[in-house]
Parts: sequence; structure tokens; C-alpha cells
Amino acid sequence: MRVTVVGGGLAGCEAAWQLATRGIKVSLLEMRPLKSTPAHQTEYFAELVCSNSLGSNQITSAGGLLKEELKFLKSLIIEIALQTFVPAGGALAVDRNRFAQMITQRIMSHPNIEVKTEECTSLPEGIVIIATGPLSSEPMVDVLTKMTKSENLSFYDAAAPIVTGESILTEHGFWGARYGKGTPDYFNCPMTEEEYELFWNELVQAEQAPLHEGIEDDITVFEGCIPIEVMARRGKKTLLYGPLRPVGLIDERTGKRPFAVVQLRKENAQGSLFNLVGFQTRLKWGEQRRVFRLIPALQEAEFVRYGVMHRNTFINAPKVLKATFQLKDYPNVFVAGQLTGVEGYVESSASGLLAGINAARLLGGQEPLVLPEVTILGALARYLEEADPNGFQPMNANFGLLPPLNERIKDKQKRKEEYAKRSLDSLKQFLEIVQK
Ligand SMILES: Cc1cc2nc3c(=O)[nH]c(=O)nc-3n(C[C@H](O)[C@H](O)[C@H](O)COP(=O)(O)OP(=O)(O)OC[C@H]3O[C@@H](n4cnc5c(N)ncnc54)[C@H](O)[C@@H]3O)c2cc1C
Repeated sequence: MRVTVVGGGLAGCEAAWQLATRGIKVSLLEMRPLKSTPAHQTEYFAELVCSNSLGSNQITSAGGLLKEELKFLKSLIIEIALQTFVPAGGALAVDRNRFAQMITQRIMSHPNIEVKTEECTSLPEGIVIIATGPLSSEPMVDVLTKMTKSENLSFYDAAAPIVTGESILTEHGFWGARYGKGTPDYFNCPMTEEEYELFWNELVQAEQAPLHEGIEDDITVFEGCIPIEVMARRGKKTLLYGPLRPVGLIDERTGKRPFAVVQLRKENAQGSLFNLVGFQTRLKWGEQRRVFRLIPALQEAEFVRYGVMHRNTFINAPKVLKATFQLKDYPNVFVAGQLTGVEGYVESSASGLLAGINAARLLGGQEPLVLPEVTILGALARYLEEADPNGFQPMNANFGLLPPLNERIKDKQKRKEEYAKRSLDSLKQFLEIVQK
């Protein structure tokens, strides 16, 4: 008996590794270098298509905690990342070539993994893990479209950044809806003329991420996707008639209309996450952090997702996927990686890891696992299963997905330490039970 893994990216490699190290034969289908994607440039597995940073390595950040969970679960991707790291402050950045080469070498030399260089154009038989990524080739998008009965799986992702509610400096803004209509669900971040001027100057000069082949034409088709920095370059006042318009908003603290206002909209019911309305952007992630933190209420903003603009193929997970990463209608088929609606290198690897473990369990006649919701990986998987399917959007690891702690801890650092402790304790206990 063998399992087929389609796609040798971060999720596919992690899934194949989990299966192989459990003694299961794996066929790994990867189309590169026969055919490439608009973003990949090498023939190596697990190529990082953009930044070489895998995000924070601090256990008190959700990304760092996810890495710790993955380390505990014996992730290949994290093991190699730690062996190829380059100094980057509190982040786990890697030498991207050594990283991809070492993973390729480990995969190629594992006796249980047979690598096939081919484009997969139909659903393979038996137990399958589909991990063809956000830039899946057309035939695979067609296969998934039919299996999930979707109308459109590929989007030009023009997402605005998301910040945590607790990192917003609420003393620098006010709640309220434009013209007082509806419930005051927006948090408004006002700027004076001087603050706006500084922001605008930095925004128009900030560095954009490189465009990938084939994207530009599509972006110009959708005026609604226009990045904020591009809009800003049309003129100093353009944003004041667009996303930063202050009309209909009175700052209750001064009784006056501010010069400019950035609105933050709740991203989840708890109000633990907020998106920057109209701030879809193609700026490099470091630049987003630098420039958007010039908005007074966002000086200390903690970004859980940066704005992105690229083709992103993902299924409507809440409709079709279980927290085990199996398709509801096809229990033999697992989906992993960015295709599931997780966002980011580590999140994609993490979903591959769980899909791999669960495919091995299914093959061995055991129940696939759903991890505890107090772990970041468990919470992400539950988000995929339980999010609102209308307007479903991809998600990074973040503490806003976790259930609240039993007791309220005011100190932010201590609260995060407690999240981490709760997650790792529960993961250990859980695995002791299921592995008995
Ligand atoms: C342009 C771009 C920039 C990004 N930048 C970042 C970033 O800086 N930081 C971050 O955390 N995340 C980033 N992401 C998001 C995401 O984390 C990465 O895309 C990540 O690589 C996803 O992992 P994956 O395993 O799902 O897909 P991938 O790593 O893309 O792997 C999918 C693999 O499947 C192969 N494949 C596709 N179709 C077929 C087929 N039909 N048959 C066989 N093989 C096939 C591809 O060649 C590829 O090797 C970016 C995404 C894109 C598209």
C-alpha cells in the first residue's frame, strides 16, 4: 500500500516525510523542472518563492509557537530550517538555497519515497494528498474545482494586512461608523495633516515586492484590487477621497472631523483581529510594518497577516474540508498547504505534517487526528472547518484563533507565555493518549 503526494512544495515534502518515516511507501509527484510556476525559479523541492524568513522564532508569538509545536511533532521543514538558519533577530530566516537543497536531498534519498517528475492532471487512485500550492497548474485546479463543486478556486489575492486588536493604541482613535450609520463596529485611526503628510511620503517611496510573470495584466483588470501605494502615487490627496476619507466621521474626543482616517474592521466575532480597510498592498512585508506603523493608533501594531497580491488558489475549506485535512466528500483525499486556506510557509508546512500523519493513520485503520484547539495547529485546522464559508479568506497562525485562557492575565507577555505553555502541555498529553 502506498500514498500519493502531489506537489513537492513545503506541504508536500512535509507530508511525504511524515508518511515515509512511519514506514509507508510514498509516490511524490512534482512537475518542476518539467513545468514551472510563475514564481518558482529552481528545480528543488520546498523552494521559498519570496521572503527567506519563516517568521518569528519566539514562543510568545503565534508563528513561533507553531514552530515549537512542529518541532515537537518532528517536522522535517523546521529541522532543516534550524540547520540552515541565517541570523535575523527574532526571526527564523534561512539560506534559501541550502534549505531547499537539503530538503530535496533528504526526500530523494529516503528509501520509502519514490519521486516522479510529472505534472499531475487527474486524481491519482488510493489515498492521496493534494499539495500543489497557490500556483497549482491548471489541470489540478480543474480537478479540485470538480471535486469541491466550486465555481472559482483561483483568485488574485489582494488582501489587506490584519493586526491584533490588543496591539491597537485605542487612546489614539475612536469607535464609530461613517455618518453614525449602523453599530459602531469600526475603529477609526485619525491623522493630522502633518501625520498624513509623513505617512504619504513614506508610502509612495516604500519598496514593493517584485511582480511575478503574468500577474500585472490581471491586476490592471480589477480596479478594485488597486494597491494602496499605487493609489497614493496618483496624487497627494487621492487617498483622502478613497480609503482614508474622513467624511462622516467625527472624533468624539475633539468633536471635529479629522484630516484623514484609517478605518479598522473586525475580522472575527471576538474582535481580536482587525483588517486595515482598503489597504490591499504589494509592499514588501518589512515596508508594510514600517510605513503602516506611522499611523498613530498603529505605532505598536502586531501584524498577523501582511497584505499580499498574487494568484492564490484555495478551496472553500469550511464547505469541503475537515479539520483532519480530509475532503468531506472524499475521505481518501487530503488537501494540504496554502490550497487549504492557510497562509504562510510554516502554516503550509504544518498542514502538510498533519495531513501526512493522518493519511498514515487512515492507511493503518486508525482514526485521523484532530489536534487540541488550544494548539496553534489545532486552532488553524478548526478555523478551516468552522469559519464562515461566505467570503472565506486565508489565515496565518495567530493567537486570536485560540480560545481564551481560563483566567484573565493582564500582562501581555505573561499571557502569551501562558498560551504557549497551555499549547505544548496539551499537545504532549494528547499525543501520549493517542499513541498508547
Ligand atoms: C508569489 C508568492 C509569494 C509568497 N510569499 C510568501 C512569503 O514571503 N512568506 C510566506 O510565509 N508565504 C508566502 N507565500 C505563501 C505560501 O506560504 C507559499 O506559497 C508556500 O510555498 C505554500 O506552500 P505549499 O506547499 O502549499 O505550495 P508550494 O510551496 O507552492 O508547492 C506546491 C508545489 O506543487 C507543484 N505543482 C503545482 N501543480 C502541480 C501539478 N499539477 N502536478 C505536480 N506538481 C505540481 C509546484 O511546482 C510546487 O513545487 C507566497 C505565495 C506566493 C504565490
